[in-house]
Amino acid sequence: MNINDLSQLRPCTSCQMCGAVCPVAAITIQLNENGFYRPVVDDRKCIDCGLCVKSCYKFDDEIKITSDLGTKEIYAAWAKDNKTVESTTSGGIADLLARELIAQGYKCIGVIYDSEKNCAVGSVATSYDDTLQFRGSKYIQSLSVDAFKTLVKEHKNEKYAVFGLPCQIYAINQFLTLRKSRGKHILIDLYCHGCPSLNLWNKYVEKLLTKVNSKKVISANFRSKIRGWGNFYVVVVVVEGVKYPIEVISKRINDPFYTLFFSDLVLNDSCYDCSLRSTLEYTDIRLGDFWGKSYVTNHKGVSGVTVCSPAGKELFESISMNIDSEPQTFDNFLPYQSYGKSYQYNTALRERLLRDLSNPTITLDTTVATYLSSLPLSSKIKKTLKNLVCLLPNGIIASVKSLFYSIKK
Ligand SMILES: Cc1cc2nc3c(=O)[nH]c(=O)nc-3n(C[C@H](O)[C@H](O)[C@H](O)COP(=O)(O)OP(=O)(O)OC[C@H]3O[C@@H](n4cnc5c(N)ncnc54)[C@H](O)[C@@H]3O)c2cc1C
Ligand code: SF4
Ligand code: SF4
Ligand code: SF4
Repeated sequence: MNINDLSQLRPCTSCQMCGAVCPVAAITIQLNENGFYRPVVDDRKCIDCGLCVKSCYKFDDEIKITSDLGTKEIYAAWAKDNKTVESTTSGGIADLLARELIAQGYKCIGVIYDSEKNCAVGSVATSYDDTLQFRGSKYIQSLSVDAFKTLVKEHKNEKYAVFGLPCQIYAINQFLTLRKSRGKHILIDLYCHGCPSLNLWNKYVEKLLTKVNSKKVISANFRSKIRGWGNFYVVVVVVEGVKYPIEVISKRINDPFYTLFFSDLVLNDSCYDCSLRSTLEYTDIRLGDFWGKSYVTNHKGVSGVTVCSPAGKELFESISMNIDSEPQTFDNFLPYQSYGKSYQYNTALRERLLRDLSNPTITLDTTVATYLSSLPLSSKIKKTLKNLVCLLPNGIIASVKSLFYSIKK
């Protein structure tokens, strides 16, 4: 039985662990036409060992869901060092943990942006300098099979710390548990909204390069803080210019990448009803943005740090000198996350948008227009109001948000 077995219960998360554990390299990871990574099995090579299935979410009929949040702790935290906060997505805690883990002798796996191939890639860091490229969330699926292969090869002799999405961390946890070496390693995952089609990111980059007449991306920051944390999702892409690099900054409103990402219509199939983003049972620490009413006036960045295991607690305590933190409640945090939620969607519209994104003759603007025109009037009004608020200064946006949260309560 391999991962193609028809007894599967759910869609593939694209975690790629099956490709890493296969002892005969029968599984390769390929992008499907909708822009999601999928394993492809070469049946001539498969020896039917069943290892791939044992790490795979598709077949697990005993997913552990956290029933008692009282066994976990949640903190709001941010790095004392301003430069770290500025160059990371929320409060820079992932960066500090990676630094500490390297100092403690762990090899760290995280995600970097490969500007040659314009994609996110899993990478193994053995020094703090290596981990600097992990900074910043890349809101696309990462090609991580090769990094995971290194972990599979070395997990008995080396200590690993892996930073990844809940679906990746789940699969790694299953593998390490099966091999009886879970206790030696540290797993850190992220609160997760989902991953959009890579065809969206590819078209976004293509449009941007055409606009400034460039051929090559130098770097991509999916969520820059140049307009502050909390109110905007700003993409900053640096591309090669004729004489100097050109910095392209997305608009305050209606950025095509985020418009389609947050439409929830072009996410991976598994992201609509994902149990793994809604459980804390497979990870040591989960990190996210501390959205919601508590830090609405903070424009630098605050991480929500959920301590899920004794090993996670020990690790979090070991960076306490370098952070400011406040114990928090799950009530102040979880309602603003996708945790515990599933998304409803229009199947025909999703298929249409994914098909259009995979069609090189249809522009990204046309796909965005198709989506916007499908919205009911009430959503159009809500969107317009939100856009108007976004044009205000940060301080006033914070006041509007506070008012909104107090009315909602
Ligand atoms: C696809 C995606 C969806 C997310 N959805 C939410 C959400 O709904 N709510 C929320 O609060 N937070 C979400 N996050 C997490 C959030 O964006 C921050 O990563 C988190 O707050 C940690 O930020 P930081 O400031 O501590 O460090 P940062 O320096 O920003 O840390 C980034 C960390 O994420 C890892 N990483 C970067 N890109 C990827 C990727 N594509 N796949 C796997 N790992 C990656 C890096 O290796 C690094 O360890 C999401 C992240 C991603 C990648
Ligand atoms: S969920 Fe992960 S392990 Fe399972 S088939 Fe998909 S990529 Fe492979
Ligand atoms: S069953 Fe074994 S050999 Fe076959 S694809 Fe899975 S891991 Fe590879
Ligand atoms: S929502 Fe679930 S399946 Fe989708 S990327 Fe996040 S953890 Fe993975």
